[in-house]
Amino acid sequence: MDMEEKEIEYPKFKESMVKTHTILIPNMLPIHMSLFEQVLLQSGYKVEIMRNEGPDVVSEGLKYVHNDTCYPALLVIGQFIDNLNHRDDLDKVVCLITQTGGGCRASNYLHLLRKALIKAGYGYIPVVSLNMSNLEKDSGFKYTPKLIFKLAAALTYGDLIMYLNNKCRTYEKEKGATMALTEKWVKELSNQFANGKGTSYKAQKKNCYAISKSYDNLDLDLSHKKPKVGIVGEIYIKYAALGNNHLEDFLVSQDAEAMVPGLYGFMLYCFWNNIYDTEIYGRWKKKALITKFLLWFMQRREKIMIASMEGTKFTPMKLFKETKEMSEGVISHGTKMGEGWLLTAEMMELQEIGYENIICAQPFGCLPNHICGKGVMKKIKSLHPDANIVAIDYDPSATKVNQENRIKLMLAIAKERIKEDDKAEL
Ligand code: SF4
Repeated sequence: MDMEEKEIEYPKFKESMVKTHTILIPNMLPIHMSLFEQVLLQSGYKVEIMRNEGPDVVSEGLKYVHNDTCYPALLVIGQFIDNLNHRDDLDKVVCLITQTGGGCRASNYLHLLRKALIKAGYGYIPVVSLNMSNLEKDSGFKYTPKLIFKLAAALTYGDLIMYLNNKCRTYEKEKGATMALTEKWVKELSNQFANGKGTSYKAQKKNCYAISKSYDNLDLDLSHKKPKVGIVGEIYIKYAALGNNHLEDFLVSQDAEAMVPGLYGFMLYCFWNNIYDTEIYGRWKKKALITKFLLWFMQRREKIMIASMEGTKFTPMKLFKETKEMSEGVISHGTKMGEGWLLTAEMMELQEIGYENIICAQPFGCLPNHICGKGVMKKIKSLHPDANIVAIDYDPSATKVNQENRIKLMLAIAKERIKEDDKAEL
């Protein structure tokens, strides 16, 4: 068979569609996505964050994606098709999907989505790829420096608010006060973006300090220790409520504090891996120069975010370079498929900053996460004997009840330890 002859021409997202077509985006991180949505709207794109959930999402995914495929791909593609099934503006929509551009299967999600759309009868709908590797050169979606600058600011705010929101939710005296503050900040920052403000280094510094202070002023009941649980794992399953069955909400309902490492870590990990590849293989030198600049640019903003928590009651997260060092001796930095060594480093960091209880969210079909998650648990436990880590599998047939029961067992151990500590203190 002549492959070139058989190559399919997929519909492209052209510049002429920017004003007329709505870009559908999966909702991986609700706080971040609300801010990204505002930045994209402000840059002239029509966007809609998909919030559809329910059994139809999984069944559409199962129908149109091979059952060997990673669970995050199945869910995201199922969510697109379920969303399209309920629209009447099908000639004016575009699907946006992220690709890491690395060696992992996430780089193929774009093609999996295109194939699924054809099978579902939506082959005429363009798909746009959001990636850091320039995998699609003729797309109408343009990364201008201005857009990157704004998205970076939204990322800084998103990570800080997510972190502080999780720090306060379990301890709030007035029910709902934390979420109300979070919504207030998302609205305030969206307004700033809409008015062309909030993205400069100076503005980010001012906003980050104001955000940290406002959460520090919330009325919290810190008189009793509660289990502190870190969530790590594959990027989509770790963050998306659709993927992890609303894990953060479940932990709060069980009177535990949830902590999810920010998106900064993954972003900086991708940049750092590019530089590492150049050092090892001596190739892509020009690309490494750009990446070095981006790494420096983002790390400056990471410092503001962390420094803004100084003087508050919150223990901040570690800087990326410190987190990276923590994985040394546990896993090689050459392990960089999927979340790679970052997953291990995040588990080590969580141990250091007081989150000895960890849920490692593992999707079906994900080999890298099994190696860098489950594969290193024994080593982490040997270094941190109090580590209480549980790996939870997420796949279309795993029941929520089963997942929650396993988490409850982990929490029972955590609560028992708190009791023992309290007794010892008395
Ligand atoms: S990290 Fe895991 S789930 Fe994600 S694309 Fe790679 S193999 Fe699939």
